[in-house]
Amino acid sequence: MSNSTSSITAYFLCSLFILLILSVSFTSVIRVDAVRHTKTKSQPDSSQGTETSNDMDTRQSINIQQELTPNNPSSANHYSINAMDSVNDPTRGNSKVAILTFDDGYKSQFTAAKSILDKYNFKATFFVVCNYAEKDANNRMDWKDVTQLHDEGHDIEAHTMNHKDLTTLPLDEVDYELGQSKQCLLNHGIDSTIFSYPFSKGSDNIDIVNMVAKYYRMARINDFPLMFLRCDGFENHQQQNDCRTFTDDGKLTFANRYSIKSWAHQHVQDGLIYDDTQMFQKFVEVVNSQNDYNKDTTINAVPIITYHDIKYQNFDYGNEPYDTNVDLFDEEMRYLHDNNFKVITMSDLGYDGNSNSFYLTPSYL
Ligand SMILES: [Zn+2]
Repeated sequence: MSNSTSSITAYFLCSLFILLILSVSFTSVIRVDAVRHTKTKSQPDSSQGTETSNDMDTRQSINIQQELTPNNPSSANHYSINAMDSVNDPTRGNSKVAILTFDDGYKSQFTAAKSILDKYNFKATFFVVCNYAEKDANNRMDWKDVTQLHDEGHDIEAHTMNHKDLTTLPLDEVDYELGQSKQCLLNHGIDSTIFSYPFSKGSDNIDIVNMVAKYYRMARINDFPLMFLRCDGFENHQQQNDCRTFTDDGKLTFANRYSIKSWAHQHVQDGLIYDDTQMFQKFVEVVNSQNDYNKDTTINAVPIITYHDIKYQNFDYGNEPYDTNVDLFDEEMRYLHDNNFKVITMSDLGYDGNSNSFYLTPSYL
């Protein structure tokens, strides 16, 4: 390199350095000025100062709100926000689960629902009333239907002998309805360990719960769309942080293994009648409400859906709120399938007596 070239290069580098220093100081001056300007603006009178500081507080609280809302189970409108998120965000599908249950042994569960479940390769839990199956009535599954479901890998569980409201019966009759229905299923080669209360009644009665515990390892009712595996997410029951059955002073807890929550798929809710389109939206909202609680592969909450009769006709839902049209049922199953829900059964729920919490058994994985 010649002398002249190196001096030109040195001159060039030097100028660059000076320019750099100049630009840094210039920016600092602007920054200092901006701060000074803000200060002078907010200081002259107290009202203006207060206004500025209020604006800051508002902005800050909005940011905090935006950060916390999606993960905060206690935020007032998390259900609707969450449902929208999950519908619009297809990446949030890895940890979604759902349990499908059918009550009362309607024939249509075999003739209509089963082929739709087969189409999507879903297995469900069927809570069977023994004497309904015994009766060989046209509108109920017989033992041939029930045992075929069982042989094909569906989960068959107990729903009493006669579907009576247990809270109206003397305890010896309650014992018969519970114990005999377990025996009756055993007589057909089915070992049921889970129970569903007729009319969703009895889980708040200590005598009945103690009797359920004699025969079954867990029981299901209908009063909430999600079951929290540690029983710790129920609004208005925040003091509960595990699933023990009794409080220290001997009262039944809100959620425990004998009061597993499920969502009854019914067209009349909160005094409103839902048509099929509205019902589908409600279903989507319910099955996605788990998204606030389940991250990656960690499952903390499971939506459990309870169906009854599945029919080919349209109904007067005001009179038959628990019936479900076949097309609606098909659409709901397609939604679960297309959105990568893992459909499991009640028998995939295990219970750990040490931690007093539920877990999903290996068959889930
Ligand atoms: Zn029932």
